[in-house]
Amino acid sequence: MNNHKNIMDEDCPFCNIGEHVEVLFKADTAMAILDSFPISPGHALVIPKRHVADYFDLTVEEQNELWQLVNRCKVILQDRFHPDGFNIGINVGEMAGQSIFHVHIHLIPRYKGDMKNPKGGVRHIIPGKGYY
Ligand SMILES: [Zn+2]
Repeated sequence: MNNHKNIMDEDCPFCNIGEHVEVLFKADTAMAILDSFPISPGHALVIPKRHVADYFDLTVEEQNELWQLVNRCKVILQDRFHPDGFNIGINVGEMAGQSIFHVHIHLIPRYKGDMKNPKGGVRHIIPGKGYY
């Protein structure tokens, strides 16, 4: 399993974070950055260092560290951007909308008034299914 720790993909934007990307913090096996195409101010990504496409292929230890870093990231975003709420999401697979095939957890700050009726939250990932 230790061999897996060093797997990188030279064409992957998350294995090779560009200079224009703001890194919020780095930890032993993962890091947090601000999304380059944010859907709201402070939209952050928590990313394991190991190049793995599918969240469910991470070890439980790696998953646990990611969620701990989501918590840490939340504190930073709350302090810096003062959002009124958050959505958290992971796209697993192309049919779920995944476009960068290196696991990342979206932590998306939400703000009062950023959409007319936010009821339903992540249910809006399928247009028309948010309101029920
Ligand atoms: Zn990668």
